[in-house]
Order: sequence, then C-alpha cells, then structure tokens
Amino acid sequence: MSQSIPDYSSKAPVLVTGATGYLAGWIVKRLLEEGKTVHAAVRDPNNSQKIAHLDKMAADLPGEIKYFKADLLDEGSFDAAMAGCDVVMHTASPFTSDVKDPQKDLVDPAVKGTRNVLQSANRTDSVKRVVVTSSCAAIYGDAVDVAKSSGSKLTEKDWNTTSRLDHQAYSFSKVEAEKAAWEMEKAQDRWQLVTINPSFIIGPGTAETQTSESFNLVKQAGDGTFKMGVPKMEIGMVDVRDVAEAHLRAGFIDEAAGRHIVSKETRDFLYICQVLRDKFGEHYPFAKGYLPKWLVWLIGPMANKALTREMVAKNVDHPWAADNSKSKEALGLTYRPLEPALEDMFQQLLNNGAVARK
Ligand code: NAP
Repeated sequence: MSQSIPDYSSKAPVLVTGATGYLAGWIVKRLLEEGKTVHAAVRDPNNSQKIAHLDKMAADLPGEIKYFKADLLDEGSFDAAMAGCDVVMHTASPFTSDVKDPQKDLVDPAVKGTRNVLQSANRTDSVKRVVVTSSCAAIYGDAVDVAKSSGSKLTEKDWNTTSRLDHQAYSFSKVEAEKAAWEMEKAQDRWQLVTINPSFIIGPGTAETQTSESFNLVKQAGDGTFKMGVPKMEIGMVDVRDVAEAHLRAGFIDEAAGRHIVSKETRDFLYICQVLRDKFGEHYPFAKGYLPKWLVWLIGPMANKALTREMVAKNVDHPWAADNSKSKEALGLTYRPLEPALEDMFQQLLNNGAVARK
C-alpha cells in the first residue's frame, strides 16, 4: 500500500455534515487551515451560540465558512449545502446514551440520514468523494467478538454482525449506516466512498461545551459515578485531532480507498482515571481499581441501563485489539499520545462547569 500526499489545490467547497459536532469542529478547522471554503450543514444556522467557535476559526484562518440548514431526517435537505462541492465529509450521526427509542433516536437518523446525504451526492454532479465517519463499532459488536478475528485483532475486513436494536443499539446504528453507504456507492460510479472507523475519541473540543458521548464518559470519570471502581472493559482510544486529520487525508489523497481503522492503542476506563488522577490529584473521585465481573453483572443493570447482563458478559474481562496499520500506510497518519488529550479534555469539563472544581 503506497501512501501519497493529499492534494488540497481544488477551489471547490467541501461539505461537512453535523458541523457543530465534536469531531466535526476539528475537521472544519483543518479544512479552513488549508484555505478551503467549508459548507457547514447544521440543524440550526440561526443558533449563533452553537456556531460561534466555527465563526471564530473562520475569522482567524485562511478558509471561509458558509452555513446551511439540514437535518438527517429531512429528505433533500443536504442538496443546497452540497451544491458545487467535490468532497463531502459526512460526520452527522447521533452519539448519545440518552436514548428512549433506539430505532427513532439512533438507527433512523444514522441510516436514513446516510442514505439522504448520499442521495444528494447522486444528484450533485460535482461530488467526487464522500468520506463517511463510521466507527470501530461497525467493525465489531462486543469485545468477545475480537477473538474471532484473524490473530485476535480487528481489521478492516471485519464487520459487526452481533449488535441489535435491543443490544448495543449505537453500534447497530453505525454498522447499518456503513452498510447502506457501501450499497449506495456500488450502485453508481461517479463518487467514491472512503470510511474512517475511529475507536473511542478523546481530546478537547473546539467549542467550550460539547455534547458528544465522549465527554459524558470522561465526565463520569471525575464526577464520582465510578468512585467504587470500574469494570475491566478494553477499548481503543484515539485523539480527536488524529481522527480529523484522517478525514482530510481520506478526502484529498487520490488513492485513498475503503475502510480505515483509526485507533492509537488499546486502553480502558481505569487508564483514563489513572491519567487524570496523576494530573488533577486525589481530591477528585477517580476510580482506583477494577470491580469484579460478577459484581458488575449483578449490580450493573441497576446502576446504568447500558450495563445489561449481556453487555457485561460479552465485554468485561475480554481483550480488545485492532490493527491500525492501514491508517499509517495509506493515510500517512501518525498518532499523538493520549495523556495530554485526556488532561485537556478534563480541564475543559472543569472550565465549563460540567465537573465541579475541587
Ligand atoms: P457529536 O458531537 O454528538 O456530533 C454528532 C453530530 O451529529 C452533531 O453535530 C449533531 O448535531 C449531528 N446530528 C445528530 N442528529 C442529527 C440530525 N437529525 N440532523 C442533523 N444533524 C444531526 O458526536 P461526535 O463524537 O463528534 O461524533 C461524530 C461522528 O463520529 C458520529 O458519526 C459518531 O458516530 C462518530 N464516532 C464518534 C466516536 C467518539 O468516540 N466520539 C467514535 C467513533 C465514531 P447537533 O450539534 O445539532 O446536535
């Protein structure tokens, strides 16, 4: 696999869906640094508070930004934002644990939204490349699945075949959305699909307050939710700026193709707590150890509705590993250390009051 240099010379605008999001903020920033005109698709362009950080970036950087109103569930609502674009970065998809109806809150916006964006691409002759933000969640369902991969390491060849509407619904939304995207790519030959499949994203946001579930989890490390200990659940982690860079390269390296696992290394929730305790001190209730699996299995479902017995059985005490070599070879990605990213992220939660200062 040969790695080429990204070519940012085109003057065509670039569409970023969900531009107010945590990851999207860093993608928009990199595009503005490259002098691009960013078409920012947002739910409410009149909400000046939600776009203030993007306006500030555009004022400070060479590129410019234009806002368009679009909703994943409104058919055709991305047409105006996509007009004239050669590259589309489709990041918008709900990433939240605040779910009452998984079909309506997660799967519909993810899958119908992806189809909606790609139908706009089918109608927009200028579009050559669509980068879809998928996830490692589209590659595996539960940690127990990792052992079935070649060498017990996830690769781009693996697909999540185990998530369901009533088990790991977010992962289900991501795999169904990515499958829909590949089906639609195969049905035409003008635009090419490239997916970025990040593991758990960490690091500061470009907006003072971010609503991504990434922030919610790191907040829980410091607000006492896990003061008695954490379940031993391994996941991949990666700095948000590396994921944004991966999108830029996927969009502008001519030879980029297929799926890309974007993950620095395997870590777990206790690691997050240890890094934060080293930096912020003992007075925050960061977990100091693991809870035994039997205890998590017993009390988990009462403490946290995501910790079902099936979830505990298939994820606690199971090793996780993923092969990130394609991201390094094909996209030329180098990965930043995770510790400063976690520290800056927690500092942001203290600054905006999401975690009380001690
Ligand atoms: P985020 O900050 O919550 O971003 C999600 C974006 O989707 C927001 O801009 C949100 O708009 C938009 N959105 C949600 N529902 C929408 C709808 N019906 N119509 C239009 N826009 C809608 O979360 P994130 O962490 O940056 O996630 C960005 C992408 O990365 C998602 O595709 C997610 O699945 C993927 N991902 C995230 C992680 C992670 O650890 N964070 C890991 C792997 C993959 P509002 O601002 O208006 O709410």
